[in-house]
Amino acid sequence: MDATERVDAVVKGTPKQLLIGGQWRDASGGGSFAVENPADGAVLCEVADATPADGVAALDAAVQAQEAWGGHPPRERGEILRRAYDLLMDRREDLAVLMTAEMGKPLAEARTEIAYAAEFFRWFAEEAVRIDGGYAVAPNGQGRFLVMRQPVGPCLLITPWNFPMAMGTRKIGPAVAAGCTMVVKPAAQTPLSMLALAQIIQEAGLPDGVLNLLTTSSSGAVMEPLIRDGRARKLSFTGSTAVGRLLLEQCADQVLRTSMELGGNAPFIVFDDADLDAAVDGAMLAKMRNIGEACTAANRFYAQAGVAGEFSRRLAERMGALTIGSGLDDGVQVGPLIDAVAQDKVTSLVDDAVARGARVLVGGKPMEGPGHFYPPTVLADVSDDAAMRHEEIFGPVAPVSSFQTEDEVLTAANDTPYGLVSYLYTRDLARAMRVSERLETGMVGLNQGVVSNPAAPFGGVKHSGLGREGGRVGIEEFLETKYVAMHVGS
Ligand code: NAP
Repeated sequence: MDATERVDAVVKGTPKQLLIGGQWRDASGGGSFAVENPADGAVLCEVADATPADGVAALDAAVQAQEAWGGHPPRERGEILRRAYDLLMDRREDLAVLMTAEMGKPLAEARTEIAYAAEFFRWFAEEAVRIDGGYAVAPNGQGRFLVMRQPVGPCLLITPWNFPMAMGTRKIGPAVAAGCTMVVKPAAQTPLSMLALAQIIQEAGLPDGVLNLLTTSSSGAVMEPLIRDGRARKLSFTGSTAVGRLLLEQCADQVLRTSMELGGNAPFIVFDDADLDAAVDGAMLAKMRNIGEACTAANRFYAQAGVAGEFSRRLAERMGALTIGSGLDDGVQVGPLIDAVAQDKVTSLVDDAVARGARVLVGGKPMEGPGHFYPPTVLADVSDDAAMRHEEIFGPVAPVSSFQTEDEVLTAANDTPYGLVSYLYTRDLARAMRVSERLETGMVGLNQGVVSNPAAPFGGVKHSGLGREGGRVGIEEFLETKYVAMHVGS
């Protein structure tokens, strides 16, 4: 089977309807919208275009299922997740083809994302049976405190296009483990991975109504009424800071619990004493994972004066050697950007930096279509007033500048409203600790270029978000604490 036939076969086998109350059904208006392959603009298929009425039906189903699901034995909740983990891994190859077709990342990276996504289910399968509470004697000796953890209730989960499956399992895993029902809405550009995931978790035995899935081309019109409805008790969102802020305002109305995984502007700092081979390897990972379309992508490189030239040269050499093409083709390391808007944004950020004095070491110009390709690019001497120092590039562009002192680089690194992740390369342990403590980010990659791990708490500070996903705290986002004050006399 050639690449096109494989894509056709997996797309054909993927549901294209809404999942509401355990039933796959068309949108109430009968509408649908197209899903495209960003490598060539070809339409892969049409999926159901949910209306606000479908949204209400999905929330009705989640509300109706909540009581029974919240009382479902934790062991069984965990076993459903564990079965879904096995199914994801068994079907990894087909799911990777589907993801690459709709999102563009190279097949090898799609396979890695499926494994990463599945791992959230395995992790939270194990957490489902570890939800505990507390018991204490009141300080006056006359009372007892009984602390219990209960599911938050029906949740709304909204996910982005850049990690179309992992951003779903990172929310669905803990929600299922905690006993919450949910309405899930993936990004319109990449609905197929989530549709395939919903089918798998249904097959793994998730009861009807626990997970309801809406694909829609009108995310605001469909989701805002659900946020304002009052029956959903939580919104968990991954996406841009601008949309996150808007949703926070909407959530204020019904005082919803929120988890917000938002944008980033990660600094990548290389000190003179760093292992330069490791720093370049780490830079490639931190920059090029997902074609640079990651919230964790290194957005600003700072190399200390003694190594800045050598670091930039080696990075440019490695970036320039990457193979660009359709993610479905063998050996391709850099796929297309998601759409023309993304390509235009990267182009204008590079042009702006160059106009302000940056030197292009490799790349620097968009590529001809079809598809929205931008070549791996390294810029040296990028000035602080370049727009790309302050906004997410979300593409394969590495701007490097040099610095002299630790204080100087810390000031520059923290000079942003974002605070998701930073990367730091040094062989000096004391400096590693000192700088890690002073970086204003929720995560630090210390001598490593990837921080994401289902067993660790992922999340940001400042405008990068609220709450954490994964790790021991991931399930907390879906649990309420109730305290029973018991009078026992003296
Ligand atoms: P986005 O435009 O904010 O969209 C994210 C999700 O929100 C999509 O499902 C989108 O649906 C939906 N949405 C947009 N407007 C909405 C509205 N008014 N009401 C309800 N839902 C709405 O972000 P994106 O471009 O997909 O994703 C890239 C961004 O996500 C980057 O900023 C990246 O840093 C961030 N991100 C953060 C993390 C993290 O963990 N911190 C992880 C991955 C990505 P439609 O697109 O269908 O409208």
